[in-house]
Amino acid sequence: MQSLGNESGLAVQKDQQYLWHNITPYSEENPPMIAAAASGSWVTDIDGNKFLDGMSGLWCVNVGYGRKELAEAAYHQLLSLPYFPLTQSHMPAIALAEKLNAWLEGDYVIFFSNSGSEANEAAFKIARQYQQQTGQHYRHKFVARYRGYHGSSLGALSATGQAQRKYKYEPLGGGFLHVAPPDSYRRPAGMTVEEFNLQSAQAIEDTMIWEGVETVAAVIMEPVITGGGVIVPHQVYLDRVQEICRKHGVLLIMDEVICGFGRSGCKFGHQNYSVKPDIITMAKGLTSAYLPLSATAVRKDIYDAFKDNSDDYGHFRHVNTFGGNPAACALALRNLEILEQENLVERAGILGKRLVAEWAGLLDHKRVGDIRSFGLILGIELVADKATKQPADLAVVKGIIAECKAKGLIIGKNGDTVAGFNNVLTIAPPLSSTDEDIRFIIDTLKTVLNGSWAG
Ligand code: PMP
Repeated sequence: MQSLGNESGLAVQKDQQYLWHNITPYSEENPPMIAAAASGSWVTDIDGNKFLDGMSGLWCVNVGYGRKELAEAAYHQLLSLPYFPLTQSHMPAIALAEKLNAWLEGDYVIFFSNSGSEANEAAFKIARQYQQQTGQHYRHKFVARYRGYHGSSLGALSATGQAQRKYKYEPLGGGFLHVAPPDSYRRPAGMTVEEFNLQSAQAIEDTMIWEGVETVAAVIMEPVITGGGVIVPHQVYLDRVQEICRKHGVLLIMDEVICGFGRSGCKFGHQNYSVKPDIITMAKGLTSAYLPLSATAVRKDIYDAFKDNSDDYGHFRHVNTFGGNPAACALALRNLEILEQENLVERAGILGKRLVAEWAGLLDHKRVGDIRSFGLILGIELVADKATKQPADLAVVKGIIAECKAKGLIIGKNGDTVAGFNNVLTIAPPLSSTDEDIRFIIDTLKTVLNGSWAG
């Protein structure tokens, strides 16, 4: 490998020599961006180029970059008590659990871990054990949706419904079943969105019945499929899913890893609907990704079933060394206060609507099939043919993203190449983005789509 002979060239060289990146394939021609600093919604690379982070990292820097208060909260906690295991307890974890309970508007008990994947793993184990120790010994299966993503560890990956992420590692964990999501854009002709959503929910009950309802422990879903292409259900879908779960004694696990902490325009994504999940998993925006922390919130009466451990059977035998680190908890608490004090939850809803309104004209664009949003999560589905809805080629999607980047805007893409689509542009900037930031996102994407990609 040649040395580029300057500081950033050397950094790239060392990066390629020593660092194994998440997902991104090794490429000498297309080296990774090496970030050096960030403030607000903007990230600066080691060459001094500035980019608006239209994806908040991996949908996670909800309060934006450069918040001194968060660094200080962690710093002070590191000085007074940097660590104590949650096999016992400490004040930052207690205070954060109380705050999360208030945000959830229900009666939940909080189990802390470090990542979204781990929060889901804990949820699966709690669901299985709960069913077994309340006499439902056959209930071990989970129903999830195709296109949903729930994490990279083997259990969370088993729940994931994206073939591209899974096929190299199969066989995965047993007992994870999948049904099609309510992708209303691709509903059969002649069917209303409501009818289609009811039919999609019915697929969950049908699967349970075919499998034997007494073998199903829980359903896991995001309120809105985010990483799988921003698939927003109609209200009737979640109402019906909840009804089906309750009817059959199946727990409903809501994965709020992306949708939580204001991103949806409510504190949690499911609060946009009338559903009351039994277990809620969260990560990312919990600390705005300044430090690793995740949580599994469990309905109090489910937790109560774990209290009788006289014979060890009721005991939740699950531990992680770092989960609920005091500094991460103190920082998360401060992060939630910022979201409240600066009305960022409401702001996410307002900004999302502004983006949708400004981009409404793009629906006439020959490559734009659909524009979907959920608070400050936006998806623009690109097609090769609007009549057949054939997904756009990956080269087109990548080209648009590269051109946005060249103009200083980072956006994402999501989908599943193995399943034949990878055609949804995603936009999820920090909730703290200024009006000027939002204007920049709106104009840059319009300029790119209406420029060389218009024809
Ligand atoms: N659930 C969802 C919905 C996610 O988007 C992610 C991460 N993108 C995860 C779980 C896993 O989180 P982590 O990467 O922190 O393990």
